[in-house]
Amino acid sequence: MAEAPAVVRADTPVTVVGGGLAGCEAALQLAHGGRTVRLVEMRPVRGTPAHQTDGLGELVCTNSFKSEDTSNAHGALKVEMAALGSVLLASARVAQVPAGAALAVDRGIFSRAMTEAVEAHPRIEVVREEVTRLPEGPAIIATGPLTSDALSDAIREALGGDGLAFFDAIAPILERDSLDESVVFAQGRWDQDADYLNCPMSKEEYDTFIDALASADVHQSYDWDAVPYFEGCLPIEVMVSRGRETLRFGPMKPIGLEDPRTGERPHAVVQLRREDRAGQMWNLVGFQTRLRIGEQKRVFRMIPGLAEAEFLRFGSIHRNSYLNFPAHLTPHGSLQDRPDLIFAGQLTGVEGYTESAASGILAGLNLHRILDGRPPVLPPPTTMLGALYRYMREADPAHFQPMNSNWGLVDPLQKRIRNKREKRERLGERAGRDFRAWMEAEGLTGRGTDAGTRTEPGSGVAAVDRGSLTARPDGALAADPPAAVAEP
Ligand SMILES: Cc1cc2nc3c(=O)[nH]c(=O)nc-3n(C[C@H](O)[C@H](O)[C@H](O)COP(=O)(O)OP(=O)(O)OC[C@H]3O[C@@H](n4cnc5c(N)ncnc54)[C@H](O)[C@@H]3O)c2cc1C
Repeated sequence: MAEAPAVVRADTPVTVVGGGLAGCEAALQLAHGGRTVRLVEMRPVRGTPAHQTDGLGELVCTNSFKSEDTSNAHGALKVEMAALGSVLLASARVAQVPAGAALAVDRGIFSRAMTEAVEAHPRIEVVREEVTRLPEGPAIIATGPLTSDALSDAIREALGGDGLAFFDAIAPILERDSLDESVVFAQGRWDQDADYLNCPMSKEEYDTFIDALASADVHQSYDWDAVPYFEGCLPIEVMVSRGRETLRFGPMKPIGLEDPRTGERPHAVVQLRREDRAGQMWNLVGFQTRLRIGEQKRVFRMIPGLAEAEFLRFGSIHRNSYLNFPAHLTPHGSLQDRPDLIFAGQLTGVEGYTESAASGILAGLNLHRILDGRPPVLPPPTTMLGALYRYMREADPAHFQPMNSNWGLVDPLQKRIRNKREKRERLGERAGRDFRAWMEAEGLTGRGTDAGTRTEPGSGVAAVDRGSLTARPDGALAADPPAAVAEP
């Protein structure tokens, strides 16, 4: 952990840059701690390619925060966020629309609730301007995947050329336990260490796979086709469009490998590379893709050994500014020589709405501690938030890619459980238990709610009864804008 600086007076203004999901959470954590906060959001003075409004906490795409089931990794993260007093969850509760086990919202009401919670706080001043340099005093930078060019330049200057990536090309990650051991074999090319898992293919299997890939449905919704792909991370479907044999001479080349079942070199091979130390998460090497999620399941499960594969993360390619956290930041996400300049949100390499918000909560909490002269804290890696931060600090800097919540990130259970449902339930229970124990040990209790994601007392969002939601003519739910309340 970086050394904490001397105590900083509570009325010394702290800057939070970015009024998105992470920035709002961070600002409120600081303000509730007693800090005076200057939250700087560039919209509407300067827009981004995706935001449409000047509201804080605007959701740029889906209106879903995913599952609330605590045996699901996203549900477990919500429990942890709720315990810390999340404004995202409180606002989502106010804006909730029916969506089964998922927490989905009316995005307009959600953003209004976030905006009002922040603006109504007496210790937060919201300023609308673009920040173009790293702030000199204590600050949190939460400018997200669409950080403006000028600030991106300043960050690159501070971190060096490899410090900030501009888009990600993500290959799917699979759960180790779901691979077919009777087909997949561990081996390196020629006599190299057996660091890779290999899925061998015959000529017939390769031909069928290429046909399926060439005709699969590709995501068109993002407007980033103009993004210049690096040759090294071309989407796999683009490679196929260049010729049937391109993959066999690229990521699927079989040279230097021998299938132990036949003693022969396969016609083609799909390789998996380890993502985590415990060996629970395996990356499909070179399979960055823009295939739709359903198509990824259908087509990649045709690969021998992957028929039952569980996807911990799906492949994707999109514009995304994110830092090389493991190469450049401290464990709590600050610059090495400035423990009080902390990065938060998607910019740090977490991926997703709730992950970004959770990172904002932790950044706010830690900056407050640091300014109080106390060291920053991180939850243990059996919890979802702790596991995300472990991933970011320990991932291989040469291959660092953003990560969403998934059970492959947490420490394995001590006793192996084969039943998937039961295993996830146990992981969820352990995460909740360990998170509560960690909060208690660090003196963090009393900020939010212990049970799920109801309106949190520390969040600054007023409880709006579901009864006040009324059906609009189009069938969607509407509510009066929630009145923000002063903190308890
Ligand atoms: C197009 C798109 C679609 C996405 N879809 C999803 C999805 O469906 N589900 C999901 O879970 N995640 C999605 N994400 C990923 C991510 O979870 C969200 O982008 C999330 O909003 C990240 O939260 P954040 O707080 O880190 O950044 P943001 O919510 O983007 O907030 C950053 C804020 O900083 C402001 N800002 C930027 N630069 C400056 C500056 N120089 N000075 C002042 N302010 C600045 C921006 O205007 C913005 O308000 C998507 C991302 C993008 C880009």
